[in-house]
Amino acid sequence: MLNERTTQEAVDHTLALCRIPSPTGFTKQAEEYVRDSLAAAGFSPIRSVKGSILCDLGGEGEPVVVAAHIDTLGAIVRAVKPNGRLRYSKLGGYPDLSVVTETCVIHTRDGRSYTGTFQPVEASSHVNAKLKELKPDEDNIEILVDEKVSRREHTIALGISSGDIVSLDPRAVLTDSGFIKSRHLDDKASAGILLAFAGCLASGGRRLRRKTYLLFTTYEEVGHGGAVIPAGSAEILSVDMGAVGEDLGCDEHMVSICAKDSRGPYDWTVTSNLVEAAKRSGCAFAVDVYPHYASDADVALAAGHDLRHGLIGPGVYASHGYERTHRDALGNSLALLVEYLTE
Ligand SMILES: [Zn+2]
Repeated sequence: MLNERTTQEAVDHTLALCRIPSPTGFTKQAEEYVRDSLAAAGFSPIRSVKGSILCDLGGEGEPVVVAAHIDTLGAIVRAVKPNGRLRYSKLGGYPDLSVVTETCVIHTRDGRSYTGTFQPVEASSHVNAKLKELKPDEDNIEILVDEKVSRREHTIALGISSGDIVSLDPRAVLTDSGFIKSRHLDDKASAGILLAFAGCLASGGRRLRRKTYLLFTTYEEVGHGGAVIPAGSAEILSVDMGAVGEDLGCDEHMVSICAKDSRGPYDWTVTSNLVEAAKRSGCAFAVDVYPHYASDADVALAAGHDLRHGLIGPGVYASHGYERTHRDALGNSLALLVEYLTE
């Protein structure tokens, strides 16, 4: 049975990763965190050309790749408006509603950073009576930079221009009751789980059932993260957030096993083996069908790799918004992984 310390390590890695800005396409700092954590556990991770971190954990026989992504949603500066405020373009898919009044950081190409806020255009309720009718979209929401700017040239003088990256304030907290609230638990909770799994393996006592790689991908939110697969791999297991909502069995305390997502069914044998491993481990789990979802495992298959594929992950509510899960979900995901991958 999994010890409490491993779950706590997953929670700690999750919170640390959530606090590192890594919108898709701007993931260097998160890559370094993952690489350093794996190296500290005694492994020799390598960085692929496009920034995925691949780590051979050891083991013998038909290789399995266990993947989580470290890129997140975010935005990019589309234009500086005549009044010095910013138009944005979304990185990844999310409802604009979820960023209204959200604080953020603008990262310039020359390494400077400025804080800001997503606000509706004409955001004062005492002035704009039509605010309550506003349809949140990229035309009606703008970013206010927290600097003295009222004209385009003021903002340009700060070094801000089109193509700069905007990261959302993660607001990462762990409550006394064990809930983890943050943006980007998708998929940093899973990355935290995989780092804790590597730590658990390094501390001994468990033997891998087969050759196992960890893969931390960097372009999942825009659909091509899971395309970097080591030659000879036979299986890919995506560890990504478990969907929670209407008619799904998973909640924020469980590990979710996905039988089908928007792209199609997961491999029958892999999914069945995951269910059996979940039963043996005694973890709280649910098997679900996700109506609006695609994973790195789907991407690996779409890229032409000949693999069996599966998907599991900790239950996350309010996905692609201000998300919430519970430490139990991390513990249950770890318990399933340990049972599935080790003996
Ligand atoms: Zn994800």
